Amino acid sequence: MSEIRVLVNGAKGRMGTETAQAVIGADGLELVGQTDLGDDLSSAIADAGAQVVVDFTIPSAAVHNANLILDSGASPVVGTTGFSTEEIEALQEKAAGLGRGGLIAPNFAIGAVLLMKFAQQAAKYLPDVEVIELHHDQKVDAPSGTALKTVELIRESLDQNPSARQTERPEETETVSGARGGKYLNIPVHSVRLPGYVAHEEVLFGGTGQVLSLRHDSISRESFMPGVILAIRKVVELDRLYYGLDQVMDL
Ligand code: NAP
Repeated sequence: MSEIRVLVNGAKGRMGTETAQAVIGADGLELVGQTDLGDDLSSAIADAGAQVVVDFTIPSAAVHNANLILDSGASPVVGTTGFSTEEIEALQEKAAGLGRGGLIAPNFAIGAVLLMKFAQQAAKYLPDVEVIELHHDQKVDAPSGTALKTVELIRESLDQNPSARQTERPEETETVSGARGGKYLNIPVHSVRLPGYVAHEEVLFGGTGQVLSLRHDSISRESFMPGVILAIRKVVELDRLYYGLDQVMDL
């Protein structure tokens, strides 16, 4: 069987560097190109004959890059965060029209995917919940894509279980603006940015006389690589673009 030809975009960055090494070390994959800011991505895809392009760049370039990858005949595996729901849906429509596989995953760490699944299950029984995500101080977007996806899954669970009602809160005042975090789908999200952290998330549930904490820690960027490699192998067999590693893990 021939090897899957992979190009890494954002190859000089932290995740891009790790990905290029992981692709080189993976059976059945061939690293055929590496691009970064200033390179012509479509020409590079065509010249290298890349089948899959892994994108770890910056939120402001991610949509443009994903469109360009699809237009150039390759399958995108996008780890860059910062997509809106509308942007994801538009890319899914485009990929479906082309019959092309792809994946946008806010978190490639299997443990983080499990955390999201467990949080979705727990919300049915403990509907009072807040999300804290902690990242290194060079991360430019907030909240993290993982936190947004976690909240979306929790909201889905709450909406599907009308008996899971959140407790009434008194009207809150913030003496320091933002002290209660930002609200996404009516669930508080708190973002911490400090040197020393990589990517971490904690989902806190409160109940009568009890609390439940779910936490995942990516302590090195290697944690994302099994998920990235799995995604590369999957997308070449798919005919649509998925959002979330959980959607392709068991396919
Ligand atoms: P990084 O170290 O800053 O790397 C980004 C690289 O992309 C840099 O070399 C940057 O060049 C380059 N770049 C910027 N604009 C570009 C463009 N238009 N075309 C091509 N390359 C471009 O960032 P990182 O830590 O690797 O993170 C990258 C993204 O992945 C972020 O959105 C982050 O949140 C996300 N992330 C996702 C996961 C996941 O599991 N899905 C895990 C970790 C991180 P310059 O430095 O010259 O600007």
